[in-house]
Amino acid sequence: MIRFDQQSSSSTQPIGFGWIVFSVALGSLILGIFLPLFLIVCGFSLLGIPVLIRLNTRQLEQVSRDIHAIETDRNEALHIASLLRSVIDAADIPILATDEDGRVAHTNRKAQDVLGVTHLAEGRRFDEMMTQRALHDLEMLARQGEPGHARLVLPVDGELRHFDVSADPVRVSNGAVLTFRDITELSRAVTLKADFAANASHELRTPIASIKAATETLAGAAKTDERMSNRLIEMITSNANRLEMLASDLLDLSKLEADDQPAMVVPVHLGKLIEKIAHEHASALERRNLELAIELDDDTSAENGEGALQSPEPIDLIQTDPALLDLILRNLIQNAAKFAHEGTTIRVRAHRAKVVGDRTIPIPSSLDSPMGLVISVIDKGIGIPLSHQQRIFERFYQVDDARTGSGAKRGTGLGLAIVKHAARRLGGSIHLESVYQVGTTMFVELPRCVEPGRRENHPIANDSE
Ligand code: ADP
Repeated sequence: MIRFDQQSSSSTQPIGFGWIVFSVALGSLILGIFLPLFLIVCGFSLLGIPVLIRLNTRQLEQVSRDIHAIETDRNEALHIASLLRSVIDAADIPILATDEDGRVAHTNRKAQDVLGVTHLAEGRRFDEMMTQRALHDLEMLARQGEPGHARLVLPVDGELRHFDVSADPVRVSNGAVLTFRDITELSRAVTLKADFAANASHELRTPIASIKAATETLAGAAKTDERMSNRLIEMITSNANRLEMLASDLLDLSKLEADDQPAMVVPVHLGKLIEKIAHEHASALERRNLELAIELDDDTSAENGEGALQSPEPIDLIQTDPALLDLILRNLIQNAAKFAHEGTTIRVRAHRAKVVGDRTIPIPSSLDSPMGLVISVIDKGIGIPLSHQQRIFERFYQVDDARTGSGAKRGTGLGLAIVKHAARRLGGSIHLESVYQVGTTMFVELPRCVEPGRRENHPIANDSE
């Protein structure tokens, strides 16, 4: 046991020394080679850190610039989208856009008003919302890239209106955009124009045919028959007069329609104008034993806030267009003279009133006074049956009595259309009250034509006094 211990202790000593030498040599090697290398690497690394930091900072700056640019682009896109939305919303025609599945993507305010679709409709299928087959086809074709348009009649607030509908593809969304242009007034105007041309040519052709037939008979069979010749000459004269009347009314009407300038506004003596017209119709009035009374008393001055004690002041000078007023009064007096019962009195009355003008007609702001004038032409005559009263202002419309009546009563059917047009050009309107076989009152309302000031404000009034 002891020997064994000695052997083992003598053999471990040289191994431990060698190991120490080896370790020292290895350590020296490491310290000598790797440490400098390590230090060099560390040095280089330390030198590289600022470069790396610089590089990373640049990258960070670039990323932040990119983020900012994306943010700006996004804000710009949002701004453009909201601008476009506002423009589409402000458009005066209904616009409706659908997406690629045919669902409503956007409706503008006008579409919501006119077509009755609410913004809640967005997301609903277009073909479930609109019932017209032609509209579905238009929308579907537009989604497939084919633009198109169609004329359709759609119900709006219980009234059928005509629309020119256009459908265009929206390439970015594979959807469609539909615009609905209301052409109701245009189609009405086209129909009216066509009807007018047909009526006018019919009205002109009848007297021309009569004159032609009479002249042919005069040149032939009636050459030697004096009685027949006289009757034919009478016939020619009355038809020529009718042609003249028609030509003059057509001219008045076309002038009124063509002239889109604001009406002239000058001081006009109402009484003198009515007297002049009455004078020109004196023989017609006399023939039927009719009287014409002019009543220009202002019986409403107390209502005008000028004091109840003020005495009525006659209306004389008014501010208006004399030619238009002449047309109105002339036609109304002519009708009253034709349709009043013989031996009665026709009254032409005028009184001040607060008349709300037709705001669609430009009225000079200098006359922006609440003082209007109501002129009434009253007759006791055959009256107008209730069933005809709605249509009486249409061009060429005549109640049967007038159509088939004597030559003296037979007019052109244009008089009241002229009056209506002229009153509208003055910013006013016309309406009637009539009882069949009792009489008719025509009311012409003219706004802002009586100035609240007195006569002496007007040079013409002073001149005439
Ligand atoms: P006309 O040239 O035939 O008088 P208007 O347009 O002036 O044409 O009038 C249209 C129709 O209205 C007349 O034909 C007549 O039937 C009816 N009418 C107009 N004014 C009166 C009136 N004061 N009394 C009765 N009927 C009237």
